This record gives sequence, structure tokens and C-alpha cells, in this order.
Amino acid sequence: MYFFWRSFWDKIWPRACISCACELISAECTLCSTCLDEVLLARMPEQSTLPLLDSLDCWLDFDTRAIQRLMHQLKFGQSPEIALRLGQLYAATHDAPHVDALIPAPLSWRRKWSRGYNQSEWLVRGLSETWGLPIWDVLHKEHRPPQATLGLDARSASAQGAYRLKRPLPHGCRVQLWDDTLTTGATLQAMAEVLYRGGATEVHGATLARAH
Ligand SMILES: [Zn+2]
Repeated sequence: MYFFWRSFWDKIWPRACISCACELISAECTLCSTCLDEVLLARMPEQSTLPLLDSLDCWLDFDTRAIQRLMHQLKFGQSPEIALRLGQLYAATHDAPHVDALIPAPLSWRRKWSRGYNQSEWLVRGLSETWGLPIWDVLHKEHRPPQATLGLDARSASAQGAYRLKRPLPHGCRVQLWDDTLTTGATLQAMAEVLYRGGATEVHGATLARAH
């Protein structure tokens, strides 16, 4: 019945793939099957580590064209549903982590206001609805110059002190911390430091994509 109504509405109001803008058929959701295949083929071949974090999982290779296009849409295309869909896809293809909660990387109020949404919040929503894990919106970010405009050392210095906890964490909790893209890892580490100081015993980092 669902697909009947969806194909009915698709004829009246066609839906487009959020990445390539082709028309979606009724069984497709947000991404067409070609773009979906490209995403699933762009997995990072190996995992890396970062000091401080108990584990690190970067899912997709940012240096593939399909992922670059998608991540650009995700941040600048007014398309938070990409993050939701990618979260659902990640959760459907990975086991739920052994943690108490998922934590999205925050944006400063200025950035969130200008973009209209926080992509990491939408991403974590997609994960949470599949895995059944709670979301803790506990991190606050001060406004800083965009990381992309800074050199390596300046990135690390800018990330330090940019984050604080909105409320105390349950002592001894284990969390998975989510951001959209990993570049130097400076922001993920700065956030993890705040979470450890706030009482977490395990902080696992994860990102949708990794840039080399
Ligand atoms: Zn497409």
C-alpha cells in the first residue's frame, strides 16, 4: 500500500535524487540507486586511530567525487535529509556500538543559524532511530573562524577551548561522538577531551567521511 501511494504521488510530484537530481522511482529514497552504489563503494579501505579516542571509524573516502558532491550538498545545499539518510545507511550496514549514547558534534549558534541546521544532529538522528540508542545533545561550541580557512597549527589552537559541556555527564559513561568529516582530527580530539573531563570513560569517534 505504501509503495502504491508513493508511486501515485511520484507521478504528481516527482522526487529527485539529492545528489544527482535524477528522478527517483518509488522504491528509492533520497538517493537514486546509482548514487547509493557509489556511496557504498566509497568506503575507506582501512581504519586509522587518533590519540585520546578509544576507537575511530571514518566511513567514506572524501576524495571520491561522489562523496565530495554529497558532503557539499549536505553542508551547503540546504539538504539535512542527506545526513539523515546516510545515518540510516551507516546504521543498516554496521552493528550498533556498545555505548550509552550518541553525541553529535555541535555547531556554533552563528553557523547553525546561517546554515539552518546542524548536519551532525540529523546524521545521529538516522543512527539513533535504527540502533535505538539515545542522543545526548551535551556539547556547546563557541564561534571560531571556519577550520577550512586555517593552517594545521591554527586549527588545533582554534579547536582547543572552543567546546564545553552544557550539562554534566553520567559518571563512567561510554559514548560515540559523531562529526561529518575528519580532516586533521583536531576538533574530534578537542571534543573528546571535554567529554573525558566531564566523566566519560570511553569516547569512540566516528565520521561520515575522511579527507586525506
Ligand atoms: Zn543520484
